[in-house]
Amino acid sequence: AEKKRRRKASKMEKTFVMIKPDGVQRRLMPEIIRRFEEKRFTLKGMKMMSVERDLAEKHYEELSGEHVFGRLVDYIVSSGPVVAMIWEGENVVETVREMIGHTRPSDCEYATIRGEFGIDKIRNVIHGSYSLEIANKEIALWFPEGPLVWDKKINNHWHKFD
Ligand code: GDP
Repeated sequence: AEKKRRRKASKMEKTFVMIKPDGVQRRLMPEIIRRFEEKRFTLKGMKMMSVERDLAEKHYEELSGEHVFGRLVDYIVSSGPVVAMIWEGENVVETVREMIGHTRPSDCEYATIRGEFGIDKIRNVIHGSYSLEIANKEIALWFPEGPLVWDKKINNHWHKFD
């Protein structure tokens, strides 16, 4: 049984999710968290924070050559706080991307977060890591203080009631 449990645990992965300033201002935080909880993903770290320019630039480094880079960084830095989260689960990276939907809200399926709540490309409510490799990088970038709760042994017997 011990072996079986370990094999199962190794399929677990973590992803980084950020509720963007428009999502926080529009009070979408509970709606977003509810969706991931109902999918039985596990919230492993969460903080509300304003974003320093340096962090925003590092986060969007890949887009630094694009024309949108400046506006995007300005938006994240100056529009209000974000909520940074770590979610864990099987195949969580890809599934969260699917639940979020396409970058441009008008291209999204209605049932996705951006499809339902996104306004435009900048105010598209939420960010989720693109791949497992990027997720690991983003978790390290946004949670440099190290593990908050996710590696601590806790008594989680209440999961039996799932
Ligand atoms: P995502 O992974 O779906 O968020 O998309 P990308 O990584 O390609 O882009 C990152 C973010 O940049 C998006 O979520 C948008 O907020 C923003 N963005 C992407 N393309 C554009 C664009 O053409 N114009 C503007 N203003 N913002 C964009």
